[in-house]
Amino acid sequence: MHSSGTSGASRTGTDVLVIGGGLIGLVTAWRAARRGLRVALADPDPGGGAARVAAGMLAAVTELHYGEETLLGLNVASAARYPEFAAELAEASGGLDIGYRACGTLAVALDADDRLHLRELHALQRRCGLDSQWLTGRECRRLEPMLAPGVRGGLRVDGDHQVDPRRLAAALLAACERAGVAV
Ligand SMILES: Cc1cc2nc3c(=O)[nH]c(=O)nc-3n(C[C@H](O)[C@H](O)[C@H](O)COP(=O)(O)OP(=O)(O)OC[C@H]3O[C@@H](n4cnc5c(N)ncnc54)[C@H](O)[C@@H]3O)c2cc1C
Repeated sequence: MHSSGTSGASRTGTDVLVIGGGLIGLVTAWRAARRGLRVALADPDPGGGAARVAAGMLAAVTELHYGEETLLGLNVASAARYPEFAAELAEASGGLDIGYRACGTLAVALDADDRLHLRELHALQRRCGLDSQWLTGRECRRLEPMLAPGVRGGLRVDGDHQVDPRRLAAALLAACERAGVAV
């Protein structure tokens, strides 16, 4: 994002120029416009980018990696604010549904290597004070009956959810336009 100086603002009538209208650029433009700034967003394909192919997992706990314990705090705090963000965006976009589902996440092990990896992840999560639960293969299938009989176990994380990135991008674009962002 590039924020223009005072002289730029007076020349163009724009306070903020956002270059790139993927999810991050769109949300930045929307928030800036809501704060009363005059915002322009430049992108040949706004609402495209990685959101077109992303899975939409809001999985701060399931996607924890070694060495990212500091980032974890930010990710968990962001995830906690998601319901409020989703509700605010639904209103600002004129009622568009972003496919936010507070459904929890189940990561399953298909073989012994997966199982070892998920066991290690579970131990790391516990050390970080996170809420996750180890399930046997049978317990996984009880939750998700269509899972293969060979599933060796899994991690259940009730606090990790999902969103539909395509719908999220469309809602952000609509919210930007309604907030007066010049796209
Ligand atoms: C396969 C896949 C799966 C993913 N799954 C998940 C997931 O489950 N959970 C999760 O949280 N994240 C996931 N991500 C990551 C997430 O989708 C990205 O972090 C996020 O969408 C990035 O948004 P962005 O706005 O930073 O960048 P981008 O989406 O890359 O947007 C960049 C924008 O800039 C524009 N642009 C490029 N060059 C210029 C230019 N010169 N001038 C103007 N505009 C330009 C492009 O057109 C594009 O619209 C996944 C990503 C991928 C690829």
